[in-house]
Amino acid sequence: MRRLVAPITAAALLLVGCRTAPPDAPSTSQTAPSAKTAASPGASESPTASAITSAITSAGASSSASAPARSIVVHLVPLGDVPQLDLEVAAAGMRSRAPLSISIEKREPLPDAAKTTEKGRFSADALLTFLQKITAAPGEKVLGVTDVDIVTPKNGVANWGVLGLGALDGKMCVISTFRMRRKWEPGGGAPEALVRERLWKISLHEIGHTLGLPHCPNAGCLMEDAQGTVKTVDSETALCATCRARFGN
Ligand SMILES: [Zn+2]
Ligand SMILES: [Zn+2]
Repeated sequence: MRRLVAPITAAALLLVGCRTAPPDAPSTSQTAPSAKTAASPGASESPTASAITSAITSAGASSSASAPARSIVVHLVPLGDVPQLDLEVAAAGMRSRAPLSISIEKREPLPDAAKTTEKGRFSADALLTFLQKITAAPGEKVLGVTDVDIVTPKNGVANWGVLGLGALDGKMCVISTFRMRRKWEPGGGAPEALVRERLWKISLHEIGHTLGLPHCPNAGCLMEDAQGTVKTVDSETALCATCRARFGN
């Protein structure tokens, strides 16, 4: 069960930590070698920027063909040094699958208040508190995107690494590419094509939480509980009909 109740401000918000990864993953250098996991096949493949751009373009083109009404406004906020391209990939992937109006906002530095006692790891809860200050109209969502390792208290572990955290039926959510890319693994981590897929899937999952969606029992639904491994995300295909309805599709 990944539903957590955690106070992040004076008012307690219900938070949902998602796709929890093992807390023993490296906490400092993304390039630190790990003997625990074999290199992913094709991990050394690195698509060119133009290939990625064309992927984004085609995703955008296919979405406009069947353009649904854009009802939910999402502000994407780059936090720290996360590549701008990652935000564009997340935005294009989400736009083509849900009726979202997405804008990429001004880059914000990672707040010192979100640093934890472990070097390189940032509190996802504190990042949500920071994102609460981002201007948004009532009903609009704010999605922070970062490349540093984000953690939340869970199962008695103070700094449990997660892929994302969202305020259930709230305004803010945050995702990190750190555990999507898994650069610490032999071979340099996950192939970029897989990372791009994880980006929009996990983004939509967290937005789903802010829309009030809990984890979904339907296998393959993007709102599924990943049960501690990003591989569950990789097996997911789309929002089920029930969850899709919450997005207004
Ligand atoms: Zn979740
Ligand atoms: Zn579902």
